[in-house]
Amino acid sequence: MEHLHVRRHNLSLVLRLLSSHGPRSRAGVAEVTGLTRATVSSLVADLIERGLVKEVGPKSDQRLGRPATLVQLDGSRVVTMGIELDVGFISVLCNDLAGTTVYQRRRPVGGASMAFADLLPVIVREMRRAIAAVEAADGRVAGATVAVPGIVDMDRGVVRRAPNLGWLDAPLGERLRDEFGATFPVSVDNEANLSALAEYRVGASAGVAHLVYILAVNGVGGGVVVDGEVFRGVSGAAGEVGHMTVQSKGARCACGSTGCWETTIGLRALLYDAVPDLAPGLLRDSRLSPEAKVAPVITRARANNPIAIRGLRKFGRWLGVGLSNVVDSFNPEVIVLGGFLPSVAEWTMGETLKAFHENSMPETAAACRVELTTLGFTAGALGGTLLASERLFADPTLVPPLG
Ligand SMILES: [Zn+2]
Repeated sequence: MEHLHVRRHNLSLVLRLLSSHGPRSRAGVAEVTGLTRATVSSLVADLIERGLVKEVGPKSDQRLGRPATLVQLDGSRVVTMGIELDVGFISVLCNDLAGTTVYQRRRPVGGASMAFADLLPVIVREMRRAIAAVEAADGRVAGATVAVPGIVDMDRGVVRRAPNLGWLDAPLGERLRDEFGATFPVSVDNEANLSALAEYRVGASAGVAHLVYILAVNGVGGGVVVDGEVFRGVSGAAGEVGHMTVQSKGARCACGSTGCWETTIGLRALLYDAVPDLAPGLLRDSRLSPEAKVAPVITRARANNPIAIRGLRKFGRWLGVGLSNVVDSFNPEVIVLGGFLPSVAEWTMGETLKAFHENSMPETAAACRVELTTLGFTAGALGGTLLASERLFADPTLVPPLG
């Protein structure tokens, strides 16, 4: 009798093989993996029972011997959920293992408060709503990841600090495990890390092993992919580039320090630079999504409003100054700009690239492309579904057999 962990490992091996190599006969799987045919048959039966693998007809061009039935990755009924929470909005995305979206919703949250105690019930409600929609479509949620704008202790599921939400040591993962843990695993991660993971897996820069994702939503975060892995540092806080100091006597930051990069390229800075008359009102309205807050900037820039254009150039310059520090620190092949940055790039990128090249070492800048994400505002939620599905690929026993 094989041990449970060996079984898990072998299930994962077969599932990954079918995912990366496409349909195979059972004999073909045995040949590539080195497992016996009896073991492969038993593993495939198990994966079929869990809805992760299905049989498909024999290849019609097979001429020698009896045509073998092939097995391939299924996962059309196995769904993972990504939830992204930031000031003013919550996004929920459910994708099946093939990456097809089965549920998507984005709505404003907050009103008077972004406090943990007030938002936890909202997150639970939105997750329940998504589960009901997935189940109505004959699918099952088998894992979830919540993306938050803060430093996360992933082992404990604790948001140690999220300055823009005002959270300190919020036990988000623990509470969600109390709610859903009996049905599927739930984890919590930083939204820039998850955005970087999404970019690395399915974005325009998919497969680029050294990549940095800069996310400006309300605050500014960074997700760093080194050698194909998200780099987290000793306590999960790596990539917090929004809080590197770019001005010795700069403005006060939400983190408590002054002169952070975020004070020059966060949402507050953009609005005060480009639409100073509207900025206080827009920033006060916590039910407005970040996109809605940026919309007047775009409207005025399109109308060639001189204050907006000048403000966007200044903003663009600060973006480039910070990027020069990022490129010199990490020597990435690509820096991807996300959040609201692509929506204003038309007016900022000229200044950004100028400052980027002026302030960085020629060797690092020459090796690096600066690109705009094509994944839109949902990259964090998408990364959440991908992280949860990675976990299922590593341990297919997390998916219960179909009833
Ligand atoms: Zn800061």
